[in-house]
Amino acid sequence: MRNVIIMGSGCAGNTAAIYASRANLKPLVVTGYEPGGQLSITSLVENFPGFPEGIDGPVLVEQMKKQAEHFGAEYVNGTVIEVDLSKRPFRVNIDGTWEETSTLIVATGASARWLGIESEQKLIGKGVSSCATCDGFFYRGKKIMVIGGGDSACEEANFLTRFSNVALVHRREEFRASKIMLDRVRANPKIEMLTNTVVDEVLDVSQGVVTGVKLRNLKTGAAETREVDGFFVAIGHIPNTKVFQGQLDLDPDGYIISHGGARTNVAGVFHAGDVQDRIYRQAITASGAGCMAAIECERFLEAEGH
Ligand code: NAP
Repeated sequence: MRNVIIMGSGCAGNTAAIYASRANLKPLVVTGYEPGGQLSITSLVENFPGFPEGIDGPVLVEQMKKQAEHFGAEYVNGTVIEVDLSKRPFRVNIDGTWEETSTLIVATGASARWLGIESEQKLIGKGVSSCATCDGFFYRGKKIMVIGGGDSACEEANFLTRFSNVALVHRREEFRASKIMLDRVRANPKIEMLTNTVVDEVLDVSQGVVTGVKLRNLKTGAAETREVDGFFVAIGHIPNTKVFQGQLDLDPDGYIISHGGARTNVAGVFHAGDVQDRIYRQAITASGAGCMAAIECERFLEAEGH
């Protein structure tokens, strides 16, 4: 039986693994289907403390993993397809193989929702981004487009006007965003709003970088091609909590509800990172949360006489 299984290998999971391994708990980290998490699909990270020149996202998570392995963490490439948290030891099914564990740290993250068109997927990290805070800086003075009609899209569009003018593209006339956020967008002279408009293609896959976007107006059918350098998709996130439904307390959108600190409603199960955080979603906050979860886990086991 394991002391602790950590689900997820983004900043939260890796940091939890560093702390848990240094506490001699020999954690098993299950990477999940997006090994490295959100950082593995970004390019330069300039806001993680300690790297004045910035650091490549995939390199940063790989370094974290190596650091955890150095202290004895074990990584398994796989996905948890089922859990049984009804009694301890907890049971975790990794691609068909059941493992038993005394405690569990859930760091499965929240995946950005994408439009799903092929050209968008091919240009992620090459001009296509799901994080204005992370990547906005690279588009100073360039042509920026934001997709979405919710609070995230409005917030990102407003934020991005620090760097340049922004076109906000939304598929309907009415916005899902709260009135205050929408009013801010409408009052911002640097934002152009394109409603009833969908994206047919992100250009240019053959050049391997975003150069423009093919748009279509749903009401008139009119198509147009625009030059774009930074294409920000802000159509929501999906917390990766499917396997916990009915076992952990989740809010209506599927995020884990915290029961104080890193605790969930099940004693011995802890949360870390974006799977519980719909507000900050930063590498550094996820790492901080991973640290909290590992410390709470260690104290929980210690109180049980481990
Ligand atoms: P959201 O409220 O679910 O809005 C998603 C938006 O993306 C909607 O406008 C939706 O269009 C659009 N969309 C979804 N799928 C699409 C697709 N395939 N193609 C084109 N458009 C698509 O998500 P969110 O904006 O991320 O907000 C999530 C939650 O966090 C909300 O409760 C929000 O209030 C909260 N939040 C709050 C703040 C804040 O207060 N500062 C900031 C960010 C988020 P339709 O409207 O047509 O469905």
